[in-house]
Formats: sequence, C-alpha cells, structure tokens
Amino acid sequence: MLLHVEAVFYFFRHWESGESTIEKRGDDLKRDIKQILHSVMLENKLSKEEIIFLLSDGFSDKRELLTAADRVRKQFMGNAVHLRGIIEFSNYCERNCRYCGLRAANRQLKRYRIEEDEIISTASESVALGYRTVVLQSGEDSFYEADKIAFIVKRLKALPGLAVTLSCGERSAEEYRLWRKAGADRYLLKHETADPALYKQLHPDMTFDNRRRCLYRLREADFQVGSGCMVGLPGQTLEALADDLLLLKELDVEMAGIGPFIPHPRTPLGSAPAGTVEMTLKMLALARLLLPQAHLPATTALGTIDPSAHRKALQAGGNVVMPVITPQRYRNLYEIYPHSTTCQDDNPDYGRRCMGKVIASLGRTVAEGPGHSPKPPFGRMRVVRVKMEG
Ligand code: SF4
Repeated sequence: MLLHVEAVFYFFRHWESGESTIEKRGDDLKRDIKQILHSVMLENKLSKEEIIFLLSDGFSDKRELLTAADRVRKQFMGNAVHLRGIIEFSNYCERNCRYCGLRAANRQLKRYRIEEDEIISTASESVALGYRTVVLQSGEDSFYEADKIAFIVKRLKALPGLAVTLSCGERSAEEYRLWRKAGADRYLLKHETADPALYKQLHPDMTFDNRRRCLYRLREADFQVGSGCMVGLPGQTLEALADDLLLLKELDVEMAGIGPFIPHPRTPLGSAPAGTVEMTLKMLALARLLLPQAHLPATTALGTIDPSAHRKALQAGGNVVMPVITPQRYRNLYEIYPHSTTCQDDNPDYGRRCMGKVIASLGRTVAEGPGHSPKPPFGRMRVVRVKMEG
C-alpha cells in the first residue's frame, strides 16, 4: 500500500515549526509506509521525523500501525497478560503538579495513609487472588522515610512469589539503593513529558533535569525501571511526543506507561480537553515497535475515557493491566484524575475476575509468574528482529 502523496502534503502544511530538517527530509518520508514499519521491525529504530509523521493526521492508516504492534507484542511477549495490583498507600503529596488531584494545594481532598499491617494484609489477599506483583504507590510524602519503606518492602517480599514495584516519586540515590537492597524489584517513575519547558509549566516546583537524573539513579540502583508519559497535555506538540518515545528508548525501560491526560476538576487544568484514545493508542503502538521487549500496560487512565480502551490497548501492543486493589474505603480519595469505573467494584476479587474476562475474550491468558522483564539488562540493548510474514 503506497503512502498517499496528499497525506504527506497535509502533514507538512500542519507541522508547526516551519522550515526544518523535516521538510528537507520530506522525500525520504514519501515512502511506502510498509517499508517504514518493515524497517522498524528489523531495527527497533525510528527517526524523530518518522515518529512525528506516524503520529500526525497525515498518516491515516492507523490500523496498519496497530496491527504491526500487536504482531511484535505476540512474538516477543507472548499472549499472556500480566496483572499488577496497585495499592495506593498514601494520598499525601508535597508537590503541586498542575494536572493532579493529589496536589498539595487541593485542600478539599481528605488525606489518608494506610497502616503498614493493612498494606501487608491487602497484598496478602491479592496473592491469594492470583496477583504476582503489587505496586506500592503514593504521592511524594516525606512522612515515609527511607527505612520505613524498606521495612514494608521486606515484609512484602516475605509473601510467596510476590514481585514488588515501588512508585513513590523522586528520591536520593541512597534511598533508591536501600529499597533495592530491601528487595524491591521495580520502580515506576513516569517522566510525564520530555519537553523541558512544558515540564516546568506543569510541575512548578520540579525540573525535567532532575526527573531524568532520578531515572538514571534508578538504573544505577539496578531496578527494572518503568517510566512513561501523558498524551494530549495542553501545549504538547507532536515533536514533544516523539521526544517522549525517544527518551523511553534511550532509557531502555523495562516498562512504559502511556496514558491520556485527563483533567481533574479541582486543578488549574480542570477545564482543559482530555487526550484522545486514538493518539494514546498510536503512542502505545510505536512504543511497542521501538521497545519490543518492554512491558506496556493498558493504563487505568485509558479506561477512564473509554470503557473499551483496555481491550483496544491490549490489541495495540499492550501486555499488562494494573487493577487498583487499594482497600475500598480509600479508593475514591486517590484521585490523580477522575476514576475509571472499568473493572472496579467493592469486592477485591471483582477487578481480577473482570479483567480476566476481558483478557480471555481476546483469546489471551492471565500470566502466572511475576512477569519480570525478559529483556537484556540496561546497557546491553540488542536489536531484536520481527519475523516477517511471507
Ligand atoms: S503527580 Fe505525583 S508528585 Fe505530582 S501532585 Fe500528583 S501525586 Fe504529587
């Protein structure tokens, strides 16, 4: 199928930066789209220009991209879908991210911290339900000194066969090392946006440089590292989205969480439009092509804007779902963005069963092991080739 010349002209007319290397390379992009996809499947690489083109309205054959990503997922990650149960153990946060309902300035939010024993009993229940990973997530809450988290991690690791992911924000290299030594397997720290100016606008008391530094600290501490971004942020360009994907590639992440921006009514961005499912799926598919062996969740944020989005994401390169297993009485208080109701219910078994049905309806299975990353360690990245049809 030939890439339509009109589509290329549309792309260049609508690309905001005017005269650029991209225009000069326009002829290169007037290629058969199959050739671009063929080449990324052989080399796991795309240029920034190619990514921008594939994200643009000018590229209309979205299905081809999603199908390619699904094929790559199947070859490298198989048909099993990993469940990661999220325990949101504290909604205190000292930051003021302009999109987040947990921001310190949101004084209307009732704050909570879950007692340590309740965290352990929740995790223990989740093991009985078949979860093999728990994700301990909180706002940036310095009440939890490093030793306190390390102690909780040690208790969790005493549960049979349980992998532990931490998601507690930016900390020092020593703290990350301590938590890794305590047994935490993975750390999730989304970079949110790789555009430093936009990052600064959204995070008034933080910098992109420090975010990146923390991600490299996690690398040095030998975690399986998860990062990721929001799609559809106010002021976000296609160029910035391409940089998000290239940063995930540079970090060679073990996990990439890519979800739409969703406005929270009690934040400064409360009236901004949400990101779209379509753009989020394209980003997810491109992440799969660039990082064939990374875990890619169908994010809860996607489920918030479209109840069928989990299915769509699992068919666009996704291989992980992350049901919230926070005890019910805290759940409505952990509101970074308004909640999804997909597969959420008072009964802790419900999310597991409901997701199991979604997964089975796609002819896939729920993974039985902890779902550690299958890719080579950081720094030993190697190109993996997709088997081509015919
Ligand atoms: S995004 Fe994270 S760091 Fe920022 S306000 Fe929300 S919980 Fe805090």
